[in-house]
Amino acid sequence: MGMGRMEMELDYAEDATERRRVLEVEKEDTEELRQKYKDYVDKEKAIAKALEDLRANFYCELCDKQYQKHQEFDNHINSYDHAHKQEGTQDYYESEMIEIERS
Ligand SMILES: [Zn+2]
Repeated sequence: MGMGRMEMELDYAEDATERRRVLEVEKEDTEELRQKYKDYVDKEKAIAKALEDLRANFYCELCDKQYQKHQEFDNHINSYDHAHKQEGTQDYYESEMIEIERS
């Protein structure tokens, strides 16, 4: 007695819950996607930054030379060219200092 109506109400309640769940899933999906995108962007930025750091590490400011490999950079740092340039720069700075002292 009255069971039919009860069932209908339960069905309705279930429908509403189902609908709400779908909405929540959609919301979660969007947030998850947004987070995933953010993670992706962060990762890309981190990679770009790491590459930049790596490049900076293999860049000789003194000689304005960029090296892609640590070995090449190492070779350059120990090379005559680099040492000579460094010496030249030091001489330049020293003479500049003398000039300043004299004036
Ligand atoms: Zn150099």
